[in-house]
Formats: sequence, structure tokens, C-alpha cells
Amino acid sequence: MVLVVVFGYVTKRVIQTRSWQVAGELVHRVETDEKIVALTFDDGPTDADADAVLDVLEDRGVPATFYVNGQDVEPNASTMRRIIDDGHQIGNHTWSHRPMIFISPSDVADEIESTDRAIRATGYDKPLTFRPPHGKKLLTLPLYLAEHDRLTVTWDVAYEDWSGKPQSTEDLVDATVEQTRPGSIILLHPWFGRTGTQEAIGPVIDQLQAQGYRFVTVSELIG
Ligand SMILES: [Zn+2]
Repeated sequence: MVLVVVFGYVTKRVIQTRSWQVAGELVHRVETDEKIVALTFDDGPTDADADAVLDVLEDRGVPATFYVNGQDVEPNASTMRRIIDDGHQIGNHTWSHRPMIFISPSDVADEIESTDRAIRATGYDKPLTFRPPHGKKLLTLPLYLAEHDRLTVTWDVAYEDWSGKPQSTEDLVDATVEQTRPGSIILLHPWFGRTGTQEAIGPVIDQLQAQGYRFVTVSELIG
């Protein structure tokens, strides 16, 4: 009984911790004294939200990194086009956003490789880092990533803007700015009509820039 409880606890920790996985390289922030940070956006994209997300970045000349779901790439081709044309980075966030735990090796490969193909079909040719849905991983996923030399990128700054819990844009901005430090990777979920998060993007950038921070893509941050 005790063993079962201990095993359950360890398994849960392995699934949830964002700074470590059993195999393959994982980055959740970068150790640096320089005031540089990466802004990352997960899921989607969704054409309906493109202007709300991308105009604010364009106005401020800020690059970001978009972890997209393969299933949303082709149906939102014009947004993908603009993400690329505006000079942002793209990453792989699985095809269907299913939790990548207790999943077979062939399903892992399907989720990741079909998404790679969808992204490559847009013409994007830069390296594709990977981010697991909800940051969750256990065994088959890290083993695949290690075998294929794929870098996993999680985050160290996130507020629960995906949880559906009521929250104000102001709380999201305050929490995000407060948690950010040199080398941080910031996570926001602005697609699917999340106006609260969309409205937070500008103030987050403005407040961090006022503190002397500079925004770079994940690849630039990692160097
Ligand atoms: Zn996600």
C-alpha cells in the first residue's frame, strides 16, 4: 500500500514538473544576468483572434514564439502566414493537444510528426522545438524526444489563464510581470477568444520593457 502511494506520488511529480524529464533535453528558463525574456503563446492559432494577438506585437516590434497545434495550422493558414511573415518563431505543441502521458510510442510519433508536417507545409523552415500540452510528460514522450534530438521547452512564468477560472486582465498582467526575471520563458493562452489574455499582452510587454527587459524568441534566448 505504501509502495503504491509512493509510486503514485513519484509518477505525478514526473508528469507535472516543468523543469525536468526522464530523457531528452528540457529548458524551462535560461540562467542569465541579462534582462532578456521570451514570450510564448500556446495552442491554436485561430484566425478570429489574429489581429488581437499579432497587432500588439507588431506595434511594439516584439518577437514571440508560437507553440501551435497541428490540427489548427491548415484551417488557420492566414494567421500562420502572418506569424511567419512578422518574423516570429513557431514550435510544435502536438496535433490534437491530448495529454502525452500513458500514450503509446506510435501515438507519440503521430502527434509530433503530423504537426511537423503541417508546419513545414506552410514553408516555415527553422528548427522546431517541442512543448507538451499542459507541460505533461512521463515515459514514451521523453524517450521519443531524446531519440529524435528534440528540445523540449516549457516555461517558468504562467498564470492560470487557461483554467477557465474567473480572473481579471489586471491580475494576469500583475502576476506575469511579478514572476518574470532575467531568462524567463513566459506562457500566455490568447487564442479561442480569450480577450482577457489578449488585452494583457500589451501591458505585460510595456511594463517589462519599462523595467529594461528585451524580448527575444525562444531560440535566441537559448542561444
Ligand atoms: Zn496547450
